[in-house]
Amino acid sequence: MFPFRYERGSDIDGVVAAAARDSSAEFLAGGTDMLQLLKDDVRRPGRIIDLSRLPDLDRIDCGPRGLRLGALVKMSDAADDPALRADYPVVAEALLASASPQIRNMATIGGNLLQRTRCVYFRDHGTQCNKREPGSGCGALAGENRLHAVLGVSDHCIATHASDLAVALVALDAIVITARADGGRRIPLEEFHILPGDRPERETVLEPGELILAVEAPPLAFARRSHYLKVRDRASFEFALTAAAVAADIDGGVVRDVRIALGGVGTKPWRAREAEQALIGQPAKPASFERAAAQALVCARPAAQNGFKIPLAQRTLVRALSHLMA
Ligand code: SF4
Repeated sequence: MFPFRYERGSDIDGVVAAAARDSSAEFLAGGTDMLQLLKDDVRRPGRIIDLSRLPDLDRIDCGPRGLRLGALVKMSDAADDPALRADYPVVAEALLASASPQIRNMATIGGNLLQRTRCVYFRDHGTQCNKREPGSGCGALAGENRLHAVLGVSDHCIATHASDLAVALVALDAIVITARADGGRRIPLEEFHILPGDRPERETVLEPGELILAVEAPPLAFARRSHYLKVRDRASFEFALTAAAVAADIDGGVVRDVRIALGGVGTKPWRAREAEQALIGQPAKPASFERAAAQALVCARPAAQNGFKIPLAQRTLVRALSHLMA
């Protein structure tokens, strides 16, 4: 592990100013992903600014104005919140499908959105990885790629985004609230993560020193009828092969409105707008769900070992939508 300076922040303005002065600084919250990356020498910050004592970033607000999760809210606390569970079940289910109970007790909402890919080449210094070391090549393209992405891939990186929570929130049109030295921003979550293109080392639109304060989801009455379905190699403490986040307004047996996002298949949390358009106005029946699922994967570009994800993701989406009819 590389040496670094450690300091504990006490107020938002102070940590943002400190990070703006030092380009080697990185923020630490729950640390569940950060510590592993430090041990693996994948991240080498010169300075770590601990956010855990910052005030007011651990609040959950869920009511008529929508959902607001402070960046330091623990995943387990959000998953247990009664109002969130009633108004946004897709979010609670995504949280409970993530990691293990021990990790959910430590990991934060902000950190979850920023977690790094689980691509084994990214976390192994003895291999080629454009994301870890730009220009070095991509070990996964001709190597082990069963778990990799089929949507949003490039010739430089096919790594899957790992967050379940981000998939649920992108389906709900969530907004990321940030602070930086010259003020803050409200960034649609759908635009927050960046496709790999020819610069896979850039993963979000955050600028150096920019701090996530919260994530908000606007009010959406039909989010009470929502669901997160995750398919994985084992039932717990495992990342998604495929996942679907769905919410639907169904009236008189017809889909009036719907939100769909996919996990486990995209290089970023994947909003499936083509599938939504294919489903709106259609009977809420399996045949409609299957047509929408086909649209969701129409741009898929599989690698040698992960072609199975295309039909699996389609079946995952059909099953998630069917669950809303139960
Ligand atoms: Fe690195 Fe991306 Fe290739 Fe994985 S898929 S080895 S993260 S460049």
